[in-house]
This record gives sequence, structure tokens and C-alpha cells, in this order.
Amino acid sequence: MSKGRNCETVKVVVRCRPLNSKEEAVGHENIMTMDVKLGQVSVRNPKSAPGELLKTFTFDAVYDANSKQSDLYDETVRPLIDSVLQGFNGTIFAYGQTGTGKTYTMQGVWMDPEKRGVIPNSFEHIFTHISRSQNQQYLVRASYLEIYQEEIRDLLCKDQTKKLELKENPESGVYIKDLSSFVTKNVKEIEHVMNVGNQARSIGFTNMNEHSSRSHAIFVITVECSEMGIDGENHIRVGKLNLVDLAGSERQSKTGVQGERFKEATKINLSLSALGNVISALVDGKSTHIPYRDSKLTRLLQDSLGGNAKTIMVATLGPSSYNYDETLTTLRYANRAK
Ligand code: ADP
Ligand code: MG
Repeated sequence: MSKGRNCETVKVVVRCRPLNSKEEAVGHENIMTMDVKLGQVSVRNPKSAPGELLKTFTFDAVYDANSKQSDLYDETVRPLIDSVLQGFNGTIFAYGQTGTGKTYTMQGVWMDPEKRGVIPNSFEHIFTHISRSQNQQYLVRASYLEIYQEEIRDLLCKDQTKKLELKENPESGVYIKDLSSFVTKNVKEIEHVMNVGNQARSIGFTNMNEHSSRSHAIFVITVECSEMGIDGENHIRVGKLNLVDLAGSERQSKTGVQGERFKEATKINLSLSALGNVISALVDGKSTHIPYRDSKLTRLLQDSLGGNAKTIMVATLGPSSYNYDETLTTLRYANRAK
């Protein structure tokens, strides 16, 4: 971390998933080397001889195929959640090619305590903190939405066909009109909200994988804390946490894609590239203009990116040679963001 005044507020980490059994069976080779201590990842061009032409990148942290969900949570995510509990905003993104572990990182396997991802771990963290607090009163609210083709859908609303609008006013800034939000009093209740939204996400799409790889899912937790100050007055702090499972970053093929599919492809790339531009402008620290307005995603997250807010980008990678081009693209994107 070298450049810019905002390097403390934006953290970029990389995570590589293990080779899966299919890849092992076919005999795909692993082209990734990670140095966890140095925070470095090196990737070998599969067309070159072993040991040659390694490209090396350095990040705030790297998580290799042996890394545990709790490693990522404890080292990287926990401090951000703590700051949300203190009234700051924060955003965690999973970015990467489809099939590299974005959803595994964000959600993981709910039934298996060792494999629970960022979202269930943050639920646990937030409500444990609240149950131990003595002089504060907390109110936790949750919303869940999806951006698909630059249209916003409320995943917790009965009417799934309704498109929501982004609005702006001088007091509350940018907000989504009519977005539902639910007060949750414990882990069970907030998990229920998440489950309802996850189910809604898949309804109406014959190919869930395809849909989820083309849409951004955003789970929003608002934590309101009120506390009696030494002045005898009640003080309220509000922190907002955005947990974002981004659309797949893979390049949509330019040939043979027409009509709806082509429109969709350009829109996915639009919000991902807008996000890259915003984060890189924030990290640069010298930019006077942060291009939030360029996409729904960045407009919506405007109050949670930059300023006092903290951001984590987890870039996910596959280990195999056949992913080389996409892996390099992901590493370059992540490298620009740090
Ligand atoms: P994405 O959401 O990026 O499309 P997924 O999270 O669905 O990718 O992951 C693809 C597959 O790889 C899933 O079967 C998932 O369980 C597995 N996987 C991903 N990351 C890991 C990991 N770090 N450890 C073990 N399995 C993983
Ligand atoms: Mg996914």
C-alpha cells in the first residue's frame, strides 16, 4: 500500500479457490503461486515453460486454496464490521469470473460452521456485539436487492416485477424509493430475511447460475445505535453495511451476441467498469471528480464508498491454466483498485 491518502479505507485482497475434482480429473495444471506472508500472487502463462514469465502482483492480503473462511473474516472483514457498529458505512465486494468463489466467499455453506462465508459470519458478529453491549440500544434493519441490466429489483417485496427507482434528496442523499426493509432482532431473523431474498432471486429464471452470474446482489444492513451521552442527551449513530456479490467479470463474447443478450452484456460491463473507475479514483486520492453517477451500482453505493466509509474488494480467482486470460484480467482490475 503506497499511493494516496485513502489506502487505509480501501483494502483489496485476492482469493484463489482449490482445483475442483473435475479439473483434477482432466489433469488441469495449477498456474497460481501465492505468498501469503508477502501478500503476493504470481501467475504463470501456461504457454511458457515452467518457471518462466511469472507475473506477480501484491495486495493487502492473499488467500490461497488452503485458506479458511475464518482467516478472511478475522483478518480482513472483522475490522470493517467493527467500524459499521461504531456508525461508519462499509462495503464488501466479491469480484471475479463466474465459478471462482464469489458466492462461496460471501455466503459459503450455511449448514457447515467452518464453511460459513462473510455474510453469516457478519450476522453472528453484529448480534454478538449487540448482546454484550450495556448502555446502547440497537436497531438492525435489513434490505436485499438486485441490479440486473441496470434495473433495481427488491428481493424482499411480494411484487417481483416492480422496478425500483433511485432518488436523491439533500438530507438523505441517494436512496432507493420504496425499498423494503425489515427490523431483525437476532441472527435467526436476519438469516430468514436472507433466505427469503435468495429464494426470490432464483424465481422466474430457468437458469439460476446464468442469472446470478449476470446480476449484482446487494444485502444491506443498517445498524442504528442510540446512547445517552455525558451531556444527558440521546445520541444516535447509524452505520450501513453493503454486502455485494457482483456479476461475473468474464468478458462477454463480442461475436454472435445480439439483441437482448448484447444489451445485457454491455450493461454488466458498464457497472463493473464504473466501479473500477470509482475505486481507483478514490484510492488515487488526487482525483477531484469521483464518477459515481456512471452506473446504478456506484450511485447507490455512493455514501458507502469514499469519505469515512471503508471498502473491501475480494477478487476471486480460479487456479487452472484454462482460466489464464480471465485471471490476469481480474488481477489487473484488482491491482488498479488498490
Ligand atoms: P461464483 O459465485 O464466483 O460463480 P461459486 O462461489 O459458486 O462461484 O463457486 C464455484 C464452486 O467452487 C462452488 O462449488 C464452490 O463451492 C466452490 N468453491 C469456491 N471457492 C471455494 C473455496 N475457497 N474452497 C472450496 N470450494 C470453493
Ligand atoms: Mg455466484
